[in-house]
Amino acid sequence: MRREQWIGGLLFLGLIALVALGQWRIGVRRRSTPVAVLHRPRAVMGTTCSMAVVVFERDRAKAEEALQAAEIVLRRIEARMSSWLDDSEISALNTARPGVHVPLEAETLEVLRAASEAAARTGGTFDVTCGPLVRLWQQAGLEGVLPRQAALDRARAASNWSLFDLDAAGATRHSQDACVDLGGITKGYAIDRAVEVLQAAAFSGGLVDVGGDLRCFGRDMTGKPWPVDLQNPFGRGRVARLEVSDTAVTTSGNYARYAEIDGRRYSHIIDPRTGRPAEAAASVTILAPEAMTADIWATALGVLGLDGFALLPEGVEALIVIGDEHNYRVYCTPGCRGLLVEPLPRQLSVWDSAGP
Ligand code: ADP
Ligand code: MG
Repeated sequence: MRREQWIGGLLFLGLIALVALGQWRIGVRRRSTPVAVLHRPRAVMGTTCSMAVVVFERDRAKAEEALQAAEIVLRRIEARMSSWLDDSEISALNTARPGVHVPLEAETLEVLRAASEAAARTGGTFDVTCGPLVRLWQQAGLEGVLPRQAALDRARAASNWSLFDLDAAGATRHSQDACVDLGGITKGYAIDRAVEVLQAAAFSGGLVDVGGDLRCFGRDMTGKPWPVDLQNPFGRGRVARLEVSDTAVTTSGNYARYAEIDGRRYSHIIDPRTGRPAEAAASVTILAPEAMTADIWATALGVLGLDGFALLPEGVEALIVIGDEHNYRVYCTPGCRGLLVEPLPRQLSVWDSAGP
C-alpha cells in the first residue's frame, strides 16, 4: 500500500469514528431528555381523563405499565362508588331495606368516613347524604319544572346523616327515602389513589386529570412546575393560570353540569341548609395537597362562597369567581395568589379570611 493511500484510509476511518461518536452523542442526549408519556383512557366517571408521567425515553414501557395500572385503580373506585351504576356498593346501600346491614369494602368505608368528617368541618355544607335532594333537582332539570314544596320537604327530611350508621364492616340506612351520593368526593379520592400508583414507580413527575380535577407531583418534562389553566366559567378561554407541583387543583362550577329550568341555570351543588341549588359562586377552585380534600372544599365553597374562606384548613387555598359574565370578580387567598402566573385577571382581589 502506498503511503498516501494508507494516510487516506486512516483519515477515512477517523471520519467514520467521528460520525459514529456524533450519533452516539445525539442518541445519549435523546435518551437523557425527559419526555412526558401520555395516557388518555376512554371516559372515566362519566368524564374525560388524562394522565402523564415524566420519564427518559428508555423507561417508556415502565411508564405505560404504571399508567395502565393507575387507570385500573380509577375504574375500580368508580365501579364501587358510583350511584349511576346499579351494581356498585353505593347502589347496594341506597337500595337496601331499612335496617339491613350492607357490607362494604374498606376503601368505600374510608370515603364514607371522610365524607362524614367533612360534614362536620364544613358546617354541614358538604353532605353526601343529600342524595334525595340531588336526585330531586336532577329530575327537575330533566323535566324543566321546579320541584313542588311537598317533594322538597320530603327530600330534605331524607337528607341527613342521622339516617345512616357506619361501622367497621359496612353501613346501614334507616329510611327508605335516604341515599348517599358520593359525586362530590369520589373523583378526588380516585385521583389520589391513581397518583399513589404513579409515585410508587418513582417517576420524577406526573399528573392525573379527571374531568378538569387534577393532582400533579414533581416537575413537568421541561423541569418546571406544571401549568394549570382555570377555565373561564362564562365562556371560552381561561380566567387565570397557575403553576404548581405536588398539589391537587379541583374546580366546581355550574358551567359544565347544571340544570336549566325556565331559562335559569341551577347548579348541581345543593345547599343542604335550604335544599336548593347553591348560588354562591360561578366557580370555585381549590388547591390542596390531596385531591379528596380539594374536591370536598370545592363543593363546600360552592355553597358558602367567600364566607367559606374562614373555614379553610391550613394548606388549603381557594380561588372563587363570583358574578355573571358581564360583571364578575375573582377572589383568591394569599397563598393562591403566589401561584398565579402573569398576566393576572383584571378583576382579581386577594382575600384572607378576615376580608380584603
Ligand atoms: P364535579 O367535580 O363533577 O363538577 P363536584 O365536585 O362539584 O362535581 O360535586 C358535585 C356533586 O356532588 C353533585 O353532582 C352531587 O352528586 C354531589 N353534591 C351536590 N351537592 C352536594 C353537597 N352539598 N355536599 C356533597 N355532595 C354534593
Ligand atoms: Mg369536584
